Amino acid sequence: MHRIPAAIIMYLLMLYTRCVCDSEPPNHNDPMWDFIVVGGGVAGCVVADILSASGRKTLLLESGPPGHATHGGKDVPASFAPYEAAYKRNLTIFDVPGEYHSIAWKMPQYNQPSTPWAYQANVLGGGGVINGALTMVPPSTDFDALASFNWSYSDIEPHFKQILSYMQAVNVPSANGLRYLEAPSEVLRRAFSFLNMTSMPLNEIPEKRHNTYNYPPVTAVEGQRVSTCLRFLPHEEARPNFKLITDAVVTRVVLGNAPGRADAVSFTRTATNTSELATLSPSGRAVLTAGALNTPRLLMLSGIGPEEELLKLKAAGLAPPEDGWVFSEGVGAGLSDHVYLRMKFALRGFKNYNYASIPNSSVHQYMQSLSGPLAQYGPVLAGYLASPYSGGVSDMEVFMEASDECVAEHCRSDTFDVFLMLLSPNSNTSLTLNIVNQSVQVAPRNWADLYLQHPRDRHVLRWGIERMVTAMLGTYGDDLELIEPPAATAVEYDLLLNSHNDSHMEGNHWAQTCALGICADPQTLQVQGTENVHVADASLMPYQLSSHPMLTVAAMARKAAQEILTSSGIAACESNPQCHAEGMRGQCCPSFDAVMLSCCAMA
Ligand SMILES: Cc1cc2nc3c(=O)[nH]c(=O)nc-3n(C[C@H](O)[C@H](O)[C@H](O)COP(=O)(O)OP(=O)(O)OC[C@H]3O[C@@H](n4cnc5c(N)ncnc54)[C@H](O)[C@@H]3O)c2cc1C
Repeated sequence: MHRIPAAIIMYLLMLYTRCVCDSEPPNHNDPMWDFIVVGGGVAGCVVADILSASGRKTLLLESGPPGHATHGGKDVPASFAPYEAAYKRNLTIFDVPGEYHSIAWKMPQYNQPSTPWAYQANVLGGGGVINGALTMVPPSTDFDALASFNWSYSDIEPHFKQILSYMQAVNVPSANGLRYLEAPSEVLRRAFSFLNMTSMPLNEIPEKRHNTYNYPPVTAVEGQRVSTCLRFLPHEEARPNFKLITDAVVTRVVLGNAPGRADAVSFTRTATNTSELATLSPSGRAVLTAGALNTPRLLMLSGIGPEEELLKLKAAGLAPPEDGWVFSEGVGAGLSDHVYLRMKFALRGFKNYNYASIPNSSVHQYMQSLSGPLAQYGPVLAGYLASPYSGGVSDMEVFMEASDECVAEHCRSDTFDVFLMLLSPNSNTSLTLNIVNQSVQVAPRNWADLYLQHPRDRHVLRWGIERMVTAMLGTYGDDLELIEPPAATAVEYDLLLNSHNDSHMEGNHWAQTCALGICADPQTLQVQGTENVHVADASLMPYQLSSHPMLTVAAMARKAAQEILTSSGIAACESNPQCHAEGMRGQCCPSFDAVMLSCCAMA
């Protein structure tokens, strides 16, 4: 065996270090990508940041248009027009927290056509620019079941901290530091007091949230929405190895000749309806972050999934060549969501704030000072209950909206909604394809299984209805009118529990469709049976957490991206042995920005 001289080894190491950490800016016209990230939502922007920070050529394809004005979004609220000349705010509906109510379910152009029954973002920013922005740190115990995968809370905690340091969760979003809609929050506060609940900042000790309440933490700064894409989307000028294409609907990951190996990603430009192929370099990787409904759909369309679903596509003439199929039963094997239930009350002397018809005074106030009700998202107070079935941890969130979003002429000004959200539900189903006129949609395989199928889920929600009606009546007596439920009787409680329709109860917290350890390898994030196709979004969550998911999705995406870098040998500077040995972390990461402080701090 020949021995390689030490000088040559050192030279090769130096070249390796240079090409990983200190490479020349790649040629933009070079069609080979090291990473192609599919979907610029909550997870996708974080993933694109981490992957491109390694210096490798990274392409982000997003089906929707830009959302935030700073990203080139154009959808300015119509009511802003009279004030724009005076205040020159240049904000879109995605920048204004109070516009949340006018987006979801009401603007089909921003919903994915593949899920007409759910509101799934079709805009750069994803769920992060259309959601209610409640930003909750989950209890560490939510991750206990993932410890053997190295996804325990202590494994993921640094990523929560990094995300939170850029996405501050505040409970006073208004720029002037004042809280608005205090009268409505007082209504629920008194009911919580009736239940002997105490006030505690909701992210302070997530494990001890039960029997506490407070103002909900949201992502906003100076009265404007903050999303992961606003914070993490790389700037192409500052990072020339990164490129973003919006209005680019990915149609499939193209598997090549080697089994389970992707060669390219095909996409259609919305503006021209033309198809293009983005090619992967020989060691390149496709990373899917299209959301928990669209990621498994794209995998199946690519020929990666359960045989039953691939055969369905074949029968419709929509499957890729059969000899490249990867049977991966874990794709779409689970599907879960948080389930909501809405109660409606009226209170003598109460005056609601209706986000469906925002008064001009609020618009003016917002344009003038980025303050007022439009700087808030909607929920005014949230509390956490522990049912007798919970083992002493919170298993129900209760929050109140000051608005009843009434638009008809018989609107009442004294009504308001109280929502119950079942935390950690046990019910779930799987995902299936529905092919309608050659268009491929996804849907829950069995709606009846998805929500409240598990007896414990029904018991907890039924208990929650009774508990909150009792608290409201106990607090307000004859001043309170029950609307939903219309009476405080067991019959009406049961009717409310059973009267849900699909959309009414959707939490839009979809998860579990390419779960860690079932569909995606916990270390490499590779989809079972593939070589270079990875998943890094809400699909990875193997069950519903006991809190709102956005922050967790972002933290998981950050960890997933780092695992992808490490396990694929395309090491980030942080894990490059040469950089590390020589204490060169600062110098060898010129393209790393502040988000990658962990890499660059130890110069
Ligand atoms: C109305 C609503 C309210 C919510 N409220 C809250 C809340 O208050 N707090 C909270 O924590 N969570 C909330 N959520 C949930 C949270 O937003 C999601 O859990 C989170 O967005 C999931 O992140 P993701 O990256 O997996 O998917 P997304 O954020 O949905 O990102 C997926 C991205 O992929 C793009 N995409 C999809 N298909 C394709 C394709 N074929 N080609 C290219 N791009 C594609 C989409 O346009 C989107 O940008 C809410 C969700 C909704 C819908």
